[in-house]
Amino acid sequence: MRYLNIIALLISASLIGGCSVLQGGKLLAPESFGLTPVTPSIYVEAGADEETRVKLRDAMKKAEDAIRAAYGSVNSRPIVHACVSEGCYEAFGGRGSVAKVYGDRILLSPRGLNWHFLAHEWSHAEMRSRQTLSAWWHMPQWFDEGVAVAVSEAPEHSESHWQFLVATNIPRPTREELHTFKSLRQWLGAVHQYGEDKNIERKAKGEPEINPVYAAAGHELRPWLAKVGSNGLLAFIARLNDGEEFESAYQTANPAVQGTLRDKAAQRP
Ligand SMILES: [Zn+2]
Repeated sequence: MRYLNIIALLISASLIGGCSVLQGGKLLAPESFGLTPVTPSIYVEAGADEETRVKLRDAMKKAEDAIRAAYGSVNSRPIVHACVSEGCYEAFGGRGSVAKVYGDRILLSPRGLNWHFLAHEWSHAEMRSRQTLSAWWHMPQWFDEGVAVAVSEAPEHSESHWQFLVATNIPRPTREELHTFKSLRQWLGAVHQYGEDKNIERKAKGEPEINPVYAAAGHELRPWLAKVGSNGLLAFIARLNDGEEFESAYQTANPAVQGTLRDKAAQRP
């Protein structure tokens, strides 16, 4: 089992990018690299205060509740590694992001020490634990991210953030464009193109952070998930596992889209 976990971790890490593979591999032996256990499933950077430890335990419970609400039950038991300094986060391969997941190992930056980012990464781990390797491989990145955004309820990626982007006319992907962000490479390319990887600089200048790509994925998936519920999500995952193409499973699992199409067809003279 541990061997399988290591393989899963390396596959996921290698998708994220070359040099973070070895750095992410350090999460297999967190205590050798400056982290101390809070519980068997939570590690925190040595020297973190009691308040941070309590916050992490609470965040873990809230994130687990969010995963259960979305998926009906909790299949995956990720191990969380929390950094209280940017240096620690970088040492584990976490540059240019708030949090990340390597297989069943979640890494949180000091900017992501809350239940929202924990639930986001946990959703990726949960989704993967419920899919065949083939289904997981063929699932578009935008979908996996959209579910994670919706489950996490992070204010940074919320519907009100999307409305802020609309109101201030900040460039953001259309629905059609979002659906083209299929591979991790395409997704990361869009994140870069829309300036979502420049938020540390923006914050330093006192400007508001913007997350047009993540917010677009949440904007797409929130109504879909609300409509299909956890049973619909599980049925959809089962269809992907049976080899059905993503787009057909996604469209037919979406009664709202179907209803709209039927209404349009009915309105035709
Ligand atoms: Zn994500």
